[in-house]
Amino acid sequence: MTRFSEFTDLCIQIEKISGSLEMTDVFAEFLKIVDEDELPVSCYMIMGEVFPAWTGKKLGLGPNLLYSALSKAAGIPPDKIKILLRETGDIGETTYRALSEDKKSQSTFSSFLAAEDEKSGTFEIAGKLSISDVYGRLKEIADVSGKGAQDRKVKGLQFLFSESSPLEAKYISRIALEELRIGIGEGIVRDSIAKAFDVPVAQVEFAFMVTNDLGEVAAAAKRGGADALSRQNIQVSRPVKMMLAQVTNSIEAAFSELDEAAVEWKFDGARLQIHKSGEEIELFTRRLENVTNSLPDVVKAVSAAVTAENAVLDGEAVAIDENGNPRPFQDILRRFRRKYDVETMSRDIPIHVNLFDLLYADGVSYIEKPLTERRQKLSEIIKQDAEGISVDELKITKDPEAAAEIYREALAAGHEGIMIKNPMSPYSPGKRGKNWLKKKPVMDTLDLVVIGGEWGSGKRKNKIGSYVLSCFDNIKNVYLEIGRVGTGLSDDLLDALTEQFTDLIEAENGVTLKIKPEIVFEIAFEEIQKSPNYPAGYALRFPRLVRVRDDKTIEEIDTIEKIERMYQGQKE
Ligand code: AMP
Repeated sequence: MTRFSEFTDLCIQIEKISGSLEMTDVFAEFLKIVDEDELPVSCYMIMGEVFPAWTGKKLGLGPNLLYSALSKAAGIPPDKIKILLRETGDIGETTYRALSEDKKSQSTFSSFLAAEDEKSGTFEIAGKLSISDVYGRLKEIADVSGKGAQDRKVKGLQFLFSESSPLEAKYISRIALEELRIGIGEGIVRDSIAKAFDVPVAQVEFAFMVTNDLGEVAAAAKRGGADALSRQNIQVSRPVKMMLAQVTNSIEAAFSELDEAAVEWKFDGARLQIHKSGEEIELFTRRLENVTNSLPDVVKAVSAAVTAENAVLDGEAVAIDENGNPRPFQDILRRFRRKYDVETMSRDIPIHVNLFDLLYADGVSYIEKPLTERRQKLSEIIKQDAEGISVDELKITKDPEAAAEIYREALAAGHEGIMIKNPMSPYSPGKRGKNWLKKKPVMDTLDLVVIGGEWGSGKRKNKIGSYVLSCFDNIKNVYLEIGRVGTGLSDDLLDALTEQFTDLIEAENGVTLKIKPEIVFEIAFEEIQKSPNYPAGYALRFPRLVRVRDDKTIEEIDTIEKIERMYQGQKE
């Protein structure tokens, strides 16, 4: 067993480093010494997660539940926790101070627990927790469900705080709220695994793409080196990251880089990854959330249409009207989110799935095969006259004018534009590159994350009336504020947004709110301007909320680099 205090020491050491090479060295050394059982969870925790993203498993602890657990563990009233939070601006530091400030009440609680637990013999002395202990406790918290779940989660966390030292609790809090942010992401973990176990980075990357689980990859690398990594494969029922597209400014520009291009409609819907294993069918969103229970009609359609015994398919689910035309994007998200009365909903908002890719069929992984071969196989395993699902049309051409014609058809049919793909390219999970280009008519909008807000006044008193937007600086690993939206939002929308954001409020100071970065807004604007008023150094002229991108994660928001490029492009 490796002690959790060694993990916190590692975090402290990494926080002092700014270069990614040095971070890789330090984390690689840790991977070499950590107990084998604790290798996977160390990889998740260093990225600020407890479970691999593909599992969809969450602790289910919002900031308020965490404050409540902290308040109880430290014997400090919740108000005082909020004051501390305002002073420090960081949940980790707040936890550390709260628990160090009131050691007395903490130890009172600890001795109470010690007395309770002595009977079962499970009590751990503060500061002596192993990484597995912390993981085990967090897993118990995540597994709590049903009646009184919130109270039991708070108790579980209070218990964990009381068992750990203030410094350990500091990092537990940050991990619990997914706010570790010490600058280590997937790239550094991947390179560290390669370095620690002396295997090529490309092999680690391959294994990560197919398993979608760096913890598992680390364990395989340690166990069997490069050989074990190359034996990893796509697994039905485990979602892999979706391949993504880059913007192209013009069809001509896209064709200038390709001899031949595969052109198809860019459907206006939401991404759907379909896993079929015999009779078992599972559906995952772009964020890898399992939406199978919300879409019984799609399950039925897949079941009737797919002839392969096992398959992983990629496509776009579109909400359609009675004429088969696309309905607004929000409608498809309503279908994805619906938890009850799903049958009625599926009659009200029917879905058509347009399949455009194949990752796996009957024991064979297709991701390394060229698009043309994947498509050929896809057509072979989908019945042609199936209802509610079809393989979309794909045209391979050298002629930009033919692509322009398809573009006009797609727009006339109410879709977003076209995709221009490299026919020879493999399927690269999680990658956004030149092999898939998207062409849409409007000036590109920005996807920004909400990090703050303000309570409204007058008749908007109980609503969050304006929202602070930020882009991401992926070098410094921080969010940079770039403006606000608020004006022009209807009262109904404000009600819905306020409800969505309430659980994410981390701190309040008068009317000003600090909000946990989680929800992505797609923002349209007239122009990007230089501005000293915002940390990003830019501001948006006339920002307007186009839609809430519930289908996107915060890892997908636009970066300051992209905004700089757009600003330069605008000047030209
Ligand atoms: P965006 O959401 O603007 O980044 O555009 C990429 C998205 O377009 C993908 O994630 C898909 O959900 C969607 N899309 C629609 N039609 C296609 C298609 N034919 N090929 C790939 N992606 C598509």
